[in-house]
Amino acid sequence: MGGNGLCHSDLHAVDDLTCSPPHVDIQLPMTLGHEVAGWIEALGPGVRGLDVGQPCALTIAGCGQCILCAQGWNNYCRSRGKQVGMGLDGGMAEYVVAPVGAIVPLRSLAPWQAAPLTDAGLSSYHAVKRVLPLLTPGSSVVVIGVGGLGHLAVAALKATCAARVVAVDQRPQALELATSMGADIGTLADDTTAWQILDATSGAGVQAVLDFVGVNPSIQLARQVIRPLGHIVVVGRGGGSIDFSPHGLPYGACISSTFGGSKLELMELLALAEGGRIACHVERHPLSQVDAVFDKLRRDEIIGRAVIVPDGH
Ligand SMILES: [Zn+2]
Ligand SMILES: [Zn+2]
Repeated sequence: MGGNGLCHSDLHAVDDLTCSPPHVDIQLPMTLGHEVAGWIEALGPGVRGLDVGQPCALTIAGCGQCILCAQGWNNYCRSRGKQVGMGLDGGMAEYVVAPVGAIVPLRSLAPWQAAPLTDAGLSSYHAVKRVLPLLTPGSSVVVIGVGGLGHLAVAALKATCAARVVAVDQRPQALELATSMGADIGTLADDTTAWQILDATSGAGVQAVLDFVGVNPSIQLARQVIRPLGHIVVVGRGGGSIDFSPHGLPYGACISSTFGGSKLELMELLALAEGGRIACHVERHPLSQVDAVFDKLRRDEIIGRAVIVPDGH
């Protein structure tokens, strides 16, 4: 293990023994950590095409047989089994065993730089790819919640399209980070946010909203600012919900959820990062400090992503 990002899903696993995907049974004890990169230490019998010592990142391995896997949507594979850090022992350890289908080789990125891209980065990038056809020059997109995932969505948007990016957060520090990633407008979440966004689009609303919070107020904000034919992607698992009626959204607008991203999208994202177009804001901590870092995450004090590295690195 060369780097393991800490995720809110880990907190859910620690605090109430739930994990995503929900159908996976957690058998205790289990080592957490599903945002992993490192170097190959040894290969299992019959594994070809990889070298010992090679840097690599891990992603979700699909079954490889079903129609979704055939379409390249390994993240939506219905037969995917236990994954590293979600049922299988994960990356918060010096060594981790991974299925060969989960391996994505790295070129110039260090494992600690790549680790947060495999989950925080990939989930954000996948959400961006879902709405990218709408984001033509002159369009606008809102990113709600510019924390560990959202700040990478801002960077991915700036790297892949010419749309104006509006970042929304309750924390001034997070908005500063979003601005440093290229957000064109940063606005504090309050009663006037929807009005400000509508005002900035001459009342027309935006083509897309990426909601990385997923609570009732954030979904409500998305609904208020989306324009006809727009697309709201709710990535955050904040427990919010939306009532649907044919008049509840502008005509033609749609709302969707996501899970992770595909292996191909991870390769694209790593290519962006290796080309210097995207980088995760990372604070590094040694493996022995992991409990203290979890507490920091629980108190919402991490700006960007916390990545665990082996002691002495
Ligand atoms: Zn995660
Ligand atoms: Zn499959």
